[in-house]
Order: sequence, then C-alpha cells, then structure tokens
Amino acid sequence: MIRFETAVIIGAGPAGLTAAYELVTKTNIKPVIIEMTTDIGGISKTVVHNGNRIDIGGHRFFSKSEIVMKWWQEILPVQGSDSKDDILRDIYYQKKRTQIRLSPDGPDPEKSDRVMLIRNRLSRIYFLRKFFEYPLTLNGSTITNLGIIRIIKIVGSYVWIKIFPVKKIRTLEDFFISRFGKELYKTFFKDYTEKIWGVPCTEIAADWGAQRIKELSVSRALLHSVKSVIKSKKSIEQKNTDTSLIEQFLYPKLGPGQMWETVASLIEEKGGIIIKNSEVVELNITDYKVHGVSYLNKTTNLISEVKGDYFFSSMPVKELIKAMGKRAPVEVKRVGEGLQYRDFITVGLLLNKLKIKNKKSVFTLYGLIPDNWIYIQEREVKVGRMQIFNNWSPYMVANIEKVWIGLEYFCNEGDNLWKMPDDEFVQFAINELDSIDIIDKNEVIDSVIIRMSKTYPAYFGTYSQFNVIRDFTDKFENLFLIGRNGMHKYNNQDHSMLTAITAVSNIISGEKSKDNIWDINTEEVYHEEKAD
Ligand SMILES: Cc1cc2nc3c(=O)[nH]c(=O)nc-3n(C[C@H](O)[C@H](O)[C@H](O)COP(=O)(O)OP(=O)(O)OC[C@H]3O[C@@H](n4cnc5c(N)ncnc54)[C@H](O)[C@@H]3O)c2cc1C
Repeated sequence: MIRFETAVIIGAGPAGLTAAYELVTKTNIKPVIIEMTTDIGGISKTVVHNGNRIDIGGHRFFSKSEIVMKWWQEILPVQGSDSKDDILRDIYYQKKRTQIRLSPDGPDPEKSDRVMLIRNRLSRIYFLRKFFEYPLTLNGSTITNLGIIRIIKIVGSYVWIKIFPVKKIRTLEDFFISRFGKELYKTFFKDYTEKIWGVPCTEIAADWGAQRIKELSVSRALLHSVKSVIKSKKSIEQKNTDTSLIEQFLYPKLGPGQMWETVASLIEEKGGIIIKNSEVVELNITDYKVHGVSYLNKTTNLISEVKGDYFFSSMPVKELIKAMGKRAPVEVKRVGEGLQYRDFITVGLLLNKLKIKNKKSVFTLYGLIPDNWIYIQEREVKVGRMQIFNNWSPYMVANIEKVWIGLEYFCNEGDNLWKMPDDEFVQFAINELDSIDIIDKNEVIDSVIIRMSKTYPAYFGTYSQFNVIRDFTDKFENLFLIGRNGMHKYNNQDHSMLTAITAVSNIISGEKSKDNIWDINTEEVYHEEKAD
C-alpha cells in the first residue's frame, strides 16, 4: 500500500493556506491545517457585521512578485466590467474616473462575486485639520497648510542633514533624520511612529525603517510628482514604481477574507483538511525532527495529537518556542520569551455621512472623500489611521449611500486601551473623530469593535538576537517557519505567501537549506509606508 505523506500546517492565514494550496496542487503530500480561531485568513480576514465588511486594516493586494500576482488572479480573476461605484459615478456625473485597464475576459462584479477589483489608491495625511498629500509633496497646498515658517525650518534642516549627515544610523530616529531632516521627522514621522510602536523612535532599530520605507526619500517623492503629471493610462503592473507610491492595487470584491476563504474551499475540495478552533500547544520533537503536534480543541477542551512528515509553522515564533518546552535550549527560550509584538484594535463605524467634504477634483459618490485610508497625524487623539471601506470596494457596504469606516488603534495586549470595555471604547473612538472634525457623532448609525493580538512583530525586545532562534529551528529539516509572526518579520501577504511557496518548492526539489526562505523580504524592496 502506498503511504501518502502528511504536512501539518499551523495557522490558516495567508502563509498556511498558501502552503496547503501549493501542496494539494503540486505534490501528493496531504496538508492538515490547524487553526486556533474559527476564522479563515488570520490578520487578512474580513469580518462581516450587519452586512458590512471590515478588514483588520485595509489590505491592498499588490506585489512586485509576478508569481504572487498571477497566483491571486488564478483564484479570483480581475474584473472585466465596471464596478457599482464606477457605474453610478458615470450616471451621476457623466465623467470618467481615472482610467483602469479592465481584463478583457474578466467577470462582471455586478453579476459575480468571484472577482478582484482594480482600485485607485489615495491616502492622505490629516494634520492641523487639513489634508496633506501622501507622500508629502512640496506644492502650493503643502506650503499653505504648513505655513512659511515651518517650511523654512523643514527645508533648512533637510539641507543641514545633507551637508552634515548622521554619522552612525543606529536607531529609527537616526534613520528618519538622516533621510528627511529633523524638522520633517518631528512634524510627520515621530508622533505617528510612536503611536504605532508605543516606544520612542530612539528605542527602535533602524532596520525597521530600512525595511519598510527604504525607497522613500525627498528626491524620489519629488521625481514621482513630476512623473505622475506626465503619465496617463494606468496598468496594474507597476513593477518599476517605488512601492510607497503604488497608485493602483487589486482588492477582492468582498475583502481580503474572500481570497482566503476561497483558497480554503479549494484546499478542502482537493483533499486537504482544516481543523478550526484548535490551538497548537506542543511540538513533539526528538533529535532535530518534529514528529507531531498536540492541539487543544477549544470546543471539546480535549487535547489531540496529529503526526506528520513535514511541519509548517505560521504561529508566532514566541509561542512556537514555548510549545517546544524543554527541548528548546535555555538561550533559545530566553530570546523567544523576549520577542515583542504590538497589538491592534479596530472600530467599524457606519455613518449617514462624514463631516469632512470632498474638495479634490475627483468625482465621488455622495461627495464622499476619495481616500482609501487617512493617516491621522493630530497629536491629541490616539487613533492612527482611518479606512473608508466604500472606497476599497463598494460591495463592502450594505447600503452604498452610507459611509463605512474603520478606525485603527495600536496598543499592547492588556494595556488600558486593550482592556477598555467595548461600549466605552466605541464611544471613545467616536468622540475622538468628532473632536478632530472628521465626523459629527450624531451621524453614527452602527458600530463594531475587533481586537487582534500580535499584528506587528516588533523590531525591539530580543529581536537583535533573533539569529539564536533561527540557528536552532533551521536544524530541523522537516520544520518550516513561514509567514509574518511565523518568522517574526514584517511580511505582508505576498511575502508571507512567498515564504510558503519557497518552502514547498524546497521539499519538491530536495533543497535542505532554509536560507532562500529567510531571504524573502530582505533583499527586495517593498511597500507599506509610514508604518502600514
Ligand atoms: C493593519 C494592517 C494592515 C495590513 N495591510 C496589508 C496590506 O495592505 N497588504 C498586504 O499584503 N498585507 C497587509 N498586512 C499584512 C498581512 O495582514 C499579513 O502579512 C498576513 O496576514 C500574514 O499572514 P500569515 O499567514 O503569515 O499570518 P497571520 O495572518 O497572522 O495568520 C496566522 C494564523 O495562525 C493562527 N495561529 C496562531 N497561533 C496558532 C496556534 N498556536 N495554533 C493554531 N493556529 C495558530 C492565527 O489564528 C492565524 O489565523 C497588514 C497587516 C496589518 C496588521
């Protein structure tokens, strides 16, 4: 009798699901996914609340990797006809929006759900109750908004740092100042970054800046402004565009969760197994080999073991090392224990309308501002970003005449924000937005709050000694660390997927080294700017 091999995959987020999909489509290895929650998609899931859909922070589908772009489009093909908001916009305004290249044979989003939309990107900074272009552009409106004194200080400190560069770039503050000058750093980067991480920029390693915004500089932003004036028809292939400046992206009609729920169904159709509501609590290992994992079924409260030939882990590295128990050396345990994370709360609000009105020369439905998201730079509030889901996909909102927004808060599990009762938090969020003139609190019709732990693996704590962990886990030939928290790396969906694709390809080719998995998202340049 032929014995089919089994791969046990921890986590049904983009990394785990991609690994399983690659296995069912390219090998005879049977994947068994164990997922801690009852959801599919991990941080990239979409939550449905009274017919309105909300992401854990809007998720753009964009990658410099052609493999990933193709992979996504095989699961959800790109739209062949206009989506609801474009159709209505044409009817109301008889004006064409920025042209997008529709796929000639693609599905019609008005008739089919299995479709990926092409969206124009707009994200601005809200500061001093005014909008600033993102990335910052030195144009008339920026000068008027900031005032001439601030502008002189910004230009002066930028010139200064170019003449007298920072000698040693150790911290994130050094990185920002050497890139943008002290004044620009203090005006636009310091507070926002500290809101995100909850620690001063002087305590964050410069690596984070280098990895997330290494392409963005004053000169490149200026060059981009000139280029975008010249450019006309846009294509979704923007391989040569700086990733912080990507102007179009793909987005599943019903949010990122739709992508991952579709992938999960395909995996099950092809014989893979997904066990939900079950948390991996122990790895059974001897002599640098994993034999099985034990998981706690949260419904029955029973612990079971599943054995396998290969193991993929997208669970947080900190928890993985803990699950290895005494088998992990003391030094590895110490570094694992010291890894830190930043957690996240999002509040969805349904409103009749926003207080701020659209003053851009973009025609929008019902006068809604055209931004996908806004960076909230105002110092007196804790909210970091605001998503406008109508502008991600009109199908995210049950009634397109209403406005469905997501407010994003960065916190630490167990701190005052995290512990605040739901009703109190929602009220606090509403009051914050009202106080900075974005909404009128009387226009709120519905709300939802979602807490998500470990959304950001931190580049502080014991992160600088991460090699201790990597050297240890790399010795396990049949264990593959993949994904974002799975590798403690600021990976987006595409990188998380590429780590999974590479791990499966190593199994197929017999490649024993894990270096090519760790190399993903170190050499390439990538998007996500400011701090997500
Ligand atoms: C605010 C925000 C905005 C973002 N925007 C974008 C964007 O625009 N574009 C983009 O591409 N990416 C974006 N990302 C990143 C994206 O969310 C992640 O890259 C992606 O979800 C990582 O996939 P993953 O599978 O590695 O991890 P996760 O999504 O974290 O999935 C891991 C899964 O493992 C499960 N798990 C954990 N521990 C256990 C255990 N012990 N046992 C069993 N299961 C376990 C979890 O429940 C989860 O389902 C954003 C992230 C955030 C926080």
